[in-house]
Amino acid sequence: MSSSYEVDVCIVGAGPAGMMLGGLLARQGIRTLVLERHRNFDREFRGEVLMPQFTQMCRQIGIFDFIEKYPHLKFRNLEIVFHKSHVSRISLEEIAPEAPFALWMPQPVLLGALLDKSKEFPNFQLWFNTSAHELVRSGGQVTGVRALKDGQSVEIKAKIVVGADGRASTVRREDGFEIECEEYSFDVMWFSIPRPQNYEPTVRAFLSAGRNYLILPKYPELLQVGLLVPKGELHEYKQKGIESLRAELLADDAVLHDFARQLHDFSSFNVLQARTSFVKRWAQNGCLLVGDSAHTCSPAGAIGVSIAVGTAIVAADVLHRAIKQGNTSQEFLDQVQELRGAYVKKIQRIQNRISGNFLAESTWQGKVFPILFFLLSKTPLLKKLQRELVVLKSPLPVPPEIRF
Ligand SMILES: Cc1cc2nc3c(=O)[nH]c(=O)nc-3n(C[C@H](O)[C@H](O)[C@H](O)COP(=O)(O)OP(=O)(O)OC[C@H]3O[C@@H](n4cnc5c(N)ncnc54)[C@H](O)[C@@H]3O)c2cc1C
Repeated sequence: MSSSYEVDVCIVGAGPAGMMLGGLLARQGIRTLVLERHRNFDREFRGEVLMPQFTQMCRQIGIFDFIEKYPHLKFRNLEIVFHKSHVSRISLEEIAPEAPFALWMPQPVLLGALLDKSKEFPNFQLWFNTSAHELVRSGGQVTGVRALKDGQSVEIKAKIVVGADGRASTVRREDGFEIECEEYSFDVMWFSIPRPQNYEPTVRAFLSAGRNYLILPKYPELLQVGLLVPKGELHEYKQKGIESLRAELLADDAVLHDFARQLHDFSSFNVLQARTSFVKRWAQNGCLLVGDSAHTCSPAGAIGVSIAVGTAIVAADVLHRAIKQGNTSQEFLDQVQELRGAYVKKIQRIQNRISGNFLAESTWQGKVFPILFFLLSKTPLLKKLQRELVVLKSPLPVPPEIRF
């Protein structure tokens, strides 16, 4: 037998977008329920570097000082290492004076902070171990969602259902949502290694004709490494065997050598596809997609969380007004996309250009482009491009009452 609940807004997914939206709505007095299929926030290799625009947005809505009290690292430089030797150093103080650092905060810590804040508002609820599987409709209107909570069927009636359930969204699979464009250019094989003493906590991208990889600081004393594998080559990679990968890593930066020597199989890697996608229309009557479910960003630039959270904050204003005015029509909810769609597309275009240029196999792209990029890094043009990605040039279009 299925139990039934009723709220104003039911959010599917307690990632950064769902948690930010849930807290902001509850703060405005909206009865909000967030559903999360996992039992807790434990997750790895996701959205751990938070670029300056994240700090800017959190300051705008009055939650930065609160989040900053939770464990994190701050770093002020990014480095691109070309062909193992030429280093281009990017100072966040130069490109983002508004918030001159990136935060490294494990996603469980960030989500825990958002939960602690949201719990201050009696209208906020989060159910873990609850997996949404179907929208409920009445006529042309979404009126709720069906889910399994601790293995039991539940039906949640809601004036608005939000799909904040990430890149493999269940809500997005429903009739009426259509992917407008999708790009997939590489996979990332992630692993963690101990951080050597005196290693400066900086994001480093290593680019060369053979192998491109990223090394990021990982809280508290680890490094997170991502090997970038061009689309379609993962299988080939595995077929060549672990010995071949070990040899490659031993030829790369010295911090990878201990890990390489202990490598016995591929189980030490966590593989994620670097995919961008954009849903044609994010809203239906009574339903809205936000975050990665509406617009998945690739890891390029480490800005996925910021983009997801930015849309969630804009949605908090639109949904708050929708509930107050009793207008949950598709046209009303379309305002979120009207305010965010063009910006998100611009960011995705930059990401796709970065991914395409570094990872394609042709000599031009694989060998010549890193050299040209190194030269470009000596000019103001690159700083301008980086600023486009990591900085919010003007505040999010929400009124001052949308804040914690
Ligand atoms: C390899 C990789 C590295 C990345 N690194 C960075 C980085 O360093 N910095 C950065 O800013 N971004 C990074 N990103 C992107 C970032 O992780 C995402 O953009 C961000 O997490 C999106 O937030 P979200 O809340 O929209 O979705 P998600 O974080 O995916 O959250 C969705 C939530 O919904 C839950 N869920 C799914 N289906 C259901 C269901 N049916 N019922 C209930 N719950 C459900 C999921 O369990 C999850 O908790 C990276 C992405 C990848 C792939």
